[in-house]
Amino acid sequence: MGLFGIYGAPDASRIIYYGLHALQHRGQDTAGIVTFNSDGEAFNVSGRGRVNEVFTESNLSKMEGILGIGNVAYDGMLHPSVHCQPLFFRHMSGDYAIASDGCLVNASLIRDWLEDRGSLFQGESDAELLAHLIKKEKPGPRIFTIVDALNMMEGGYTFLILTKNRIYACRDKFGIKPLCLGRLGNAYVISSESCSFELIGAKFIRDIEPGELITIDHHGIRTRRYSQFQRHKLCAMEYIYYSRPDSDIDGCNVHSYRKESGRRLYQEAPADADIVIGVPDSSLSAAMGYAEASGIPYEMGLIKSKYVGRTFIEPSAAMRENGVKMKLSALPSIVRYKRVVLVDDSLVRGTTCTNIVKMLREAGASEVHVRIASPMTKFPCYYGVNNSTHSELLCNDKSLRQVCIALGADSVGFLSPESAIASCRGRKELCLGCFTGEYPTMIYKNEYEDID
Ligand code: SF4
Repeated sequence: MGLFGIYGAPDASRIIYYGLHALQHRGQDTAGIVTFNSDGEAFNVSGRGRVNEVFTESNLSKMEGILGIGNVAYDGMLHPSVHCQPLFFRHMSGDYAIASDGCLVNASLIRDWLEDRGSLFQGESDAELLAHLIKKEKPGPRIFTIVDALNMMEGGYTFLILTKNRIYACRDKFGIKPLCLGRLGNAYVISSESCSFELIGAKFIRDIEPGELITIDHHGIRTRRYSQFQRHKLCAMEYIYYSRPDSDIDGCNVHSYRKESGRRLYQEAPADADIVIGVPDSSLSAAMGYAEASGIPYEMGLIKSKYVGRTFIEPSAAMRENGVKMKLSALPSIVRYKRVVLVDDSLVRGTTCTNIVKMLREAGASEVHVRIASPMTKFPCYYGVNNSTHSELLCNDKSLRQVCIALGADSVGFLSPESAIASCRGRKELCLGCFTGEYPTMIYKNEYEDID
């Protein structure tokens, strides 16, 4: 999911529109924007579809105000928290809206606690939980109730909270989810990824720190730590797959990370081959790194259609398979009679990779050596990144040889967890939960049926 907010710009809704457009890769199923005008009147537009399907010249032109927040999301999350955010709430102390990225791991405990105290919920979103927690407390400075609420929440999350005159932005204390701050003229912007700043002409200021809560209003920016506990366990998949290559997260550029991971992948899993190709788009940087380190020529052996979405967000296995065929095709004139190193960013269910190996063989490749620029994905994610269960993960119960056979490849190799961290220069820790089974937070097992 992608979050974007702005304070202090006329026509805030249009800037949010472009900000969300740059974050479209983080979710293509729903989009929404909420703004407030100077009279405290709220404007709320959200719906199913991509940003350019939900918003039109007509509905954007009616959204007044210099401050607002927006969200893009996909449906396929383990913990369902998508209800066309931002969620908008009316309350006697003032209307407000909340947008969230990620998942709480103690959501059901908090929900039970709130229901015991009379709360009624419309959905299962973490944003709705936060809204109830904030309003459960006695009237007082809102910041204290937000701090108390955040301290009850455990998981990988970022939230944007919008009131009629203020934006609050926070990042989980483990730093699992990314969030950054920028400047656009006199306005401040907040985004899940820095790539959106480039599009709107904003300047990157800094990442929001783990456990940090910032307030933006007519006084400017104020910051506080809502938790003294702080880790830097950014989701490794943000670097490996999820984020755009032109984003910088926690001081490391995503493309540079992927290229370095490709170089390290060659050191750890060399292959004797004629060409290196990458799976577009997220594996191209790692393939370049692999080619550079190995001296094997980098080639464009696969073409991606621009008009089909990411396959892991499709709801059924059958649709995913069709999705692979619709979005990728092999170039016979490039791969025919060649020993090919196929670099992919990660191996989750294996559907896409298996189909690509088959496609390359049909296009005439004499050998296909699969190299994955991340460790084996053996465990589910509880922070909202992928929605695969244990049994759906190809590597869950297989040896390297069994994975190779399942993919139909001539050989297969993975990046080590150590190199997944070391690819981000100077970094000592990342969340590698889905690779190693060691999660940064507690996992409340009663929430999930599939932990076996
Ligand atoms: S478990 Fe995996 S996908 Fe989930 S936050 Fe950690 S590294 Fe990212």
